[in-house]
Amino acid sequence: MSICFIVGHGKSKNGGYDSGAVCKDYHEFRIAKEIARYAQIYYNSTYTEKCELMNYEGDKYLTERISAVNNAGYDFVAEFHLNAGGGTGTECYHHIGGAEGEKYAAKISAAISETLGIKNRGAKTKTGSEGRDYFAIIRETKPTAVLIETAFIDTADVELINTPDGQKKCGEAIAKAVAKVRNAQLKAAAENEKIYRVQVGAFKNYDNALALLDKLKFIGFKDAFIKWE
Ligand SMILES: [Zn+2]
Repeated sequence: MSICFIVGHGKSKNGGYDSGAVCKDYHEFRIAKEIARYAQIYYNSTYTEKCELMNYEGDKYLTERISAVNNAGYDFVAEFHLNAGGGTGTECYHHIGGAEGEKYAAKISAAISETLGIKNRGAKTKTGSEGRDYFAIIRETKPTAVLIETAFIDTADVELINTPDGQKKCGEAIAKAVAKVRNAQLKAAAENEKIYRVQVGAFKNYDNALALLDKLKFIGFKDAFIKWE
């Protein structure tokens, strides 16, 4: 089981640079990639489940990101974006009629809103042609997928995610929200559940192994046993 955080934009259809939305010196791609990276680092250092990061270098166009997702067999993917067009707050898109996706979208949106102190615009769907999902990363991919509009690039929102500190806070909030829905196991908890075994001998001869087992049982080790490879 593994999941993937994907950076939106970065590479255009013809292979050039796709900045995504731009406002002043801010590029959607440049901010989104750092939030996604912080989210991935937090997820991998906190939970046992593996989280990959896709398109950090802007090396994959949308269709390439979609095929990479479908080839990898992830259980869940989230694509990171910034909103534009004037407004404030955070929102997260999920599959039309996808109850599973809605759970992620609602938790992610609420977590960003709480962490950054911006409006929670909530879990949403967007319908494109023929009543299908508008966003290809949601429509064309096999695992549950969401598209996160972390905050607006063209309003005061952007000041909250334009520093490493803000990007880290936002990324960690997203990672925690995803982990909550997935019931991801904490690394520390997994460590506590480890079983340590003590070996007392290794023999080429079965009778010698048996002799030691008898001895151990005789002196009181009830769950001593022979294992072979
Ligand atoms: Zn975008």
